[in-house]
Amino acid sequence: MVEHAGANPSDPSLQALTLARSLAAGEPVHALLLGAGGTTAAAALGAYGVAVAHVGEHPSLDSFAPDAWAASLAQLAERLLAGVVLAAASDRGADVMARLAARLELPLATNCLAARHGLPMAVTRLRWGGSLLEEAVLHSHRPLLTVAVHAVAAEPAATAVTTEVRGFAPELDERDLAVRVAEHVPAPGGGVSLKEAKVVVSGGRGVGSKEGFAIIEELAGLLGAAVGCSRAVTSAGWRPHTDQVGQTGTKIAPDVYIACGISGATQHMAGCKAAKKILAINSDAEASIMANADYAVIGDLKEIVPAISEEIRRRR
Ligand code: FAD
Repeated sequence: MVEHAGANPSDPSLQALTLARSLAAGEPVHALLLGAGGTTAAAALGAYGVAVAHVGEHPSLDSFAPDAWAASLAQLAERLLAGVVLAAASDRGADVMARLAARLELPLATNCLAARHGLPMAVTRLRWGGSLLEEAVLHSHRPLLTVAVHAVAAEPAATAVTTEVRGFAPELDERDLAVRVAEHVPAPGGGVSLKEAKVVVSGGRGVGSKEGFAIIEELAGLLGAAVGCSRAVTSAGWRPHTDQVGQTGTKIAPDVYIACGISGATQHMAGCKAAKKILAINSDAEASIMANADYAVIGDLKEIVPAISEEIRRRR
């Protein structure tokens, strides 16, 4: 299953496709695209070795409906006699694949970062928010896998193929549409998206209050960055859940992650460890985030963050 935002396949789906290709061993890789814009997004898949893209054709498939998507995937997998079924371990991928596993009564290995063909199939899974790698075997004639987000590099195929695009009309009933997206509400702020930002400036409990985020927002504004935060902050009601980075928040992979007043709990790091560089600003030199930080400034963020903003302004 390939997710896409309009015309562009999502990065996590391209990562899942890279793993799918490694398992295909010469067999064709098929992709299922659901939701508006599928035909356009399918055009980008030849570079990733997709032989056939099946684009959902059903008026109810334009918006996300996890059971309808799982039903579509089940029907296509059956029709193709698919050897393995994969999706990204994104919110939607995990939701759909869990429902698919329940429908097919087949085991599902979630958050895989490697898989080796064979009976049983050997998989390596990311567990405990990324702090543990598990080696497991999957006894199934049709293994179902979700691929951990930002754990496998999305690599184009050595030889691009021409993707054949086919319409796919699944049979759906009312029950498949009981849960569906009825409305999209834009995230407050509407600035740079946390998921796609190249730079993220995040604040934790150390910021001290809702109002304390003014200096975080100021620095983010100067850097063209998105604002993120820890769960301690969303739990305190200082920021909306959409800003939360971590295991139960958004998983991000920016070029630079600036963590201000964040201790670096495993569950937080699960969301930001794919950042290329981490700068920690923390008054505690022993905070666990230091083990993951490429750069650190030890001190009071209320002095350091405004000083960085001031220096950026001065240099401009
Ligand atoms: P704290 O751990 O309290 O750290 C505050 C830091 O600020 C400290 O390191 C302190 O030294 C520093 N500090 C204080 N004052 C200053 C100052 N003036 N200047 C500089 N530094 C200062 N957490 C997440 O973030 N995301 C998740 O998705 C998430 N999911 C979870 C899921 C589960 C199932 C569970 C159990 C927990 C989850 N958590 C998550 C919570 C996580 O375990 C931590 O409790 C949380 O990340 C702590 O947030 P924090 O670092 O902001 O706060």
